[in-house]
Amino acid sequence: MRHLLLPSAVFLALAGGLAWHGPAAAAGQLNLLCSVQDEWCSLISTTFARTSGIKVNLLKRGTGEALAQLIAERANPKTDVWFGGTGDPHLQAAEQGLTLEHKSPTLPQLHDWAQRQAQQSGWRTVGLYSGPLGFAYNTELLAKKKLPPPKCWKDLLSPALRGEVQAANPASSGTAYTMIATIVQLMGEDAAYAYLKGLHRNISQYARSGAGPIKAAARGETAVSISFVHDAPGEQMQGFPIATVTPCEGTGAEIGSMSIVKGARNLDNAKKFYEWALSPAAQQLGVAAKQFQLPSHRQTPLDPRIPDFRQIKFIPYDHAKYGRSAERKRLIERWEREVNSLA
Ligand code: PLP
Repeated sequence: MRHLLLPSAVFLALAGGLAWHGPAAAAGQLNLLCSVQDEWCSLISTTFARTSGIKVNLLKRGTGEALAQLIAERANPKTDVWFGGTGDPHLQAAEQGLTLEHKSPTLPQLHDWAQRQAQQSGWRTVGLYSGPLGFAYNTELLAKKKLPPPKCWKDLLSPALRGEVQAANPASSGTAYTMIATIVQLMGEDAAYAYLKGLHRNISQYARSGAGPIKAAARGETAVSISFVHDAPGEQMQGFPIATVTPCEGTGAEIGSMSIVKGARNLDNAKKFYEWALSPAAQQLGVAAKQFQLPSHRQTPLDPRIPDFRQIKFIPYDHAKYGRSAERKRLIERWEREVNSLA
């Protein structure tokens, strides 16, 4: 079971087929690659289609998989806009010249972290939302097993949690890469890999997408998940006994990002979507889709269920360093070699 990847490469075929299609220069279309959760992807695409009259072809991919798709399409890009997913792979896409330089007039109205993300990419991406990494746990399952909720990274190594933790696979999931980069920055690299090897003993499986483990914890399939804590209110709203905590030693936050693809066939529509997606009205759709990240536009009204960043101990996450292609490749390869290959 341990190395099983969840079969969750989800294609959403809204207003289109199972892949990009349509005449290359067709006006009135947008090929949207989306790396947030399915419900949010659907809501932004249907709302934009309805309000703009532009037909949206939506393709859903985890952040690491989306980057792989843009690399594969490099010679003949099919995607116009890449919406959401952790910021590091967006920075790598920028570094590799896969995405277009674009300075939105809305930039000054965004939070500093979102503007910094744009600046660090040479204006080839922009911050859409931010969210802290932490743990989610099934309160009923832990109580039944008489286990205390984990509070710190070190608690996840407890032998009592053998087979009771789920995380995602960093090759396909931006959430999991954020986890590795966070632990490396927190502990130093060698200690981080020693930690990840210890954690591996307690992991039942590495899911393909970061969205999977918290759903498994909510449904009682695992006691604990390593997840973005902003995913919890959506599960709670469905009545699942799930709670979250951010680790006592400190944690990282993602800067969920958005990029326009270089060579986009529907560039005008891509720019229209991009501006709309940065507006408070569009950013509020996250909450409507039960997603509780902190939106990047300062004027987006804040739902009280959005995590209070002032209460969380953050590490000074170096997005520029850990957003570099070579660094991501090296850390993921080391994880495959030293951690995922263990029995
Ligand atoms: N879903 C939500 C709510 C997120 O915040 C993110 C990251 O931006 C993702 C999904 C990305 O998932 P993955 O870890 O599969 O790349």
